[in-house]
Amino acid sequence: MDFSLSPEVLAFRDEMRDIIREFVTPEVIDRMHTSGTFDAPELNLELGRRGILERAVPGLGKGDPIEMYVMFNELEKAGAPYDGLAVALMIAAVVNKLGTEDQKERIIPGIVAGRELVCMGYSEADHGSDVASITTRAVRDGDEWVINGAKMWTTLAQVARWVILLTRTDTEVPKHKGLTMFILPMDTPGIRVDPVHTLGTEITNATYYDDVRVGDDAVLGEVDGGWRTMTTVLAFERGVMGGTQAGVPLLRHFHDWAVGNGVLDEPVTRERMVRSIIDMQVAQVLTMRSAWIAASGGLPGLEGSMSKVFAAEAYQRASRWTLAAAGPAGLLQFHEPQAAADGFVDYDARHSPVMTIYGGTTEINRNNIAERHLGLPRSR
Ligand SMILES: Cc1cc2nc3c(=O)[nH]c(=O)nc-3n(C[C@H](O)[C@H](O)[C@H](O)COP(=O)(O)OP(=O)(O)OC[C@H]3O[C@@H](n4cnc5c(N)ncnc54)[C@H](O)[C@@H]3O)c2cc1C
Repeated sequence: MDFSLSPEVLAFRDEMRDIIREFVTPEVIDRMHTSGTFDAPELNLELGRRGILERAVPGLGKGDPIEMYVMFNELEKAGAPYDGLAVALMIAAVVNKLGTEDQKERIIPGIVAGRELVCMGYSEADHGSDVASITTRAVRDGDEWVINGAKMWTTLAQVARWVILLTRTDTEVPKHKGLTMFILPMDTPGIRVDPVHTLGTEITNATYYDDVRVGDDAVLGEVDGGWRTMTTVLAFERGVMGGTQAGVPLLRHFHDWAVGNGVLDEPVTRERMVRSIIDMQVAQVLTMRSAWIAASGGLPGLEGSMSKVFAAEAYQRASRWTLAAAGPAGLLQFHEPQAAADGFVDYDARHSPVMTIYGGTTEINRNNIAERHLGLPRSR
């Protein structure tokens, strides 16, 4: 198999690197860590202005499918705040696949211009892995829907223009069959957002929906067909839009720090460094496969699970040994003098566990692989 990139894609990668040099400054990265909002509006607008976002949306993209992978891969390796962009492009892909013409016209242009973000409201406090059991209700009232309930972990709700909201519309049928997905503006009356601070620095939110009224034009996919919409979202979320090279900035910062103080002279440190670099390469190849499937019109559900499980665990392994190798300096945070690798050892030790949870936990993804790839019996 030939993994080399075409001259056009290499030129695109150079363009991405130029943009990153200009827009992903140390100040932008610092703002992400101090604010907890993993988004850079100025970067989004520049990528939108150059037409790069439109080209990257799976199924809509007019560029080489590999461009989406290259864009997120470069952003992630640079440690850029790209989460807002990733979710927005993912939902643009879902709207493009399942939405009405009216929804495509209302929602996609703001996203691909880099102006508007989307947050995902499907998990609830008691229903994360078992998301089909959610209890937020949408009830028909004349020609409107009235939504009541509470969602947990609605990341980026504090800056998003839109929310995709999984609701229960029929309580009389098996749980997967009575769900409907909506997409509505976050400034719709009745929505409240409360911040939740996480171990991994990123702010997420609890969101509340109190007699929120929307019309049929807010239904994304079929009424009572929300499970199909949900699985389409998850297929794009897992291991496609970045999230698989998170250890690269850590290894870069750790390397620069460890060279300077002799830690890298230890044979055991060098061996661990090389193993982690190999891990990142494997994660990269797995991601390329998922991204290619997504960008050429497919749904990489299983392949995405494989990339996500491997990459999240590789990131955790890297963060654990760098923390051990750094000693007490590894516990110091950004802006603290003497912090190992400028604070990245501490940050990644706190952030890497989170990656095995969001977008579906490692255990759930392992079940997915065991059942759908290996043909093992269902575990529950
Ligand atoms: C930082 C962060 C951001 C997030 N962002 C969003 C977001 O934007 N939108 C959104 O809707 N959700 C979001 N989530 C929610 C995330 O998807 C859920 O946390 C995740 O699906 C796990 O659900 P849970 O927290 O309810 O844990 P639970 O489902 O209660 O799981 C607890 C433990 O049990 C294990 N477990 C559960 N079921 C099984 C099973 N069948 N087999 C084996 N093991 C099992 C899990 O792997 C886990 O270890 C986010 C979460 C975090 C931490």
